[in-house]
Amino acid sequence: RASRQTADQRPELQISFEFFPPKNDAMEERFWDSVHKLAPLKPRFVSVTYGAGGTTRERTLRMVSSIKKDTGVDAAAHLTCVGASRDEVDAVVRGYQAAGINRIVALRGDPPEGVGQPFTPHPEGYQNAADLVAGIRRIGDFDISVAAYPEKHPQSESWDVEIDNLKRKLDGGADRAITQMFFSNGDYLRYLERARAAGITAPIVPGIQPIHSFKQISSFAGRCGTSIPAWLAERFDGLDDEPETHALVASAVAAEQVTELLDEGVTEFHIYTHNRSPLALALARILGRRPVA
Ligand code: FAD
Repeated sequence: RASRQTADQRPELQISFEFFPPKNDAMEERFWDSVHKLAPLKPRFVSVTYGAGGTTRERTLRMVSSIKKDTGVDAAAHLTCVGASRDEVDAVVRGYQAAGINRIVALRGDPPEGVGQPFTPHPEGYQNAADLVAGIRRIGDFDISVAAYPEKHPQSESWDVEIDNLKRKLDGGADRAITQMFFSNGDYLRYLERARAAGITAPIVPGIQPIHSFKQISSFAGRCGTSIPAWLAERFDGLDDEPETHALVASAVAAEQVTELLDEGVTEFHIYTHNRSPLALALARILGRRPVA
């Protein structure tokens, strides 16, 4: 079993961590504390999200540049094309380029009305993520990640539409896909099969969401089309006011998820940190990562 091998026996294992740009001083402190605790695990890269509709444009750029300078870890900037013209989006890409950022997570984004609401492209904007990938490729030689949805994007009418869209993004020049969070590994493994059957060979990296707050995660999951299995809800039932037990259950759930995936042959993991380090650190340990000075 891969999950019982030592890290030396699995040299191909790669991890990455996702953060969001902090909104105030207190949040910035927690952001840096987490970055400094996770950077010694030598992730392939860490990424910083782009607030809905580009609201964090400057902060995303500042955080990504500072992570690179401060820790030496490669950092990726997320970018969305919703609500902006091509010229505006291209200017952000050139800004990343000028700051020495060579990794982008390229996304369409969601309309201001909210996740799951119909999307109308800006009249002079990129039409979708595939169109954005092509635009970024025209500007420079970036490492590009795109999004994938093991339970289908809520706006994909069918599995064919979902997989065709993923294929367009990867054929258009993206290097890998990172999945939306999911809690049933079967959904991810079936998605991989569908993608491979459609001729997609690029890595589809599972996005692992440690459950730091079941209440928050389940509410967000409902909005982005991730289902919460009954067994998962049962494990957290009644734990809202029991932080220690909640954290132990969360760690066990995430450990079980990555252990199963390791045994299925998965070698790359993207961990959603919500700017908190403890569960991400525990998960990295289970994947065989220890801090490197
Ligand atoms: P797309 O790949 O463009 O697809 C969206 C939908 O449109 C799909 O249903 C697709 O099938 C359909 N579609 C696209 N093109 C066509 C076409 N030509 N014909 C028919 N149907 C089509 N959001 C943020 O605001 N900021 C972030 O930093 C951020 N980071 C994320 C990171 C990851 C790893 C993930 C998984 C999501 C992230 N999101 C982020 C959320 C993302 O913006 C939303 O999920 C959004 O609804 C879809 O973006 P996309 O890039 O997947 O869109």
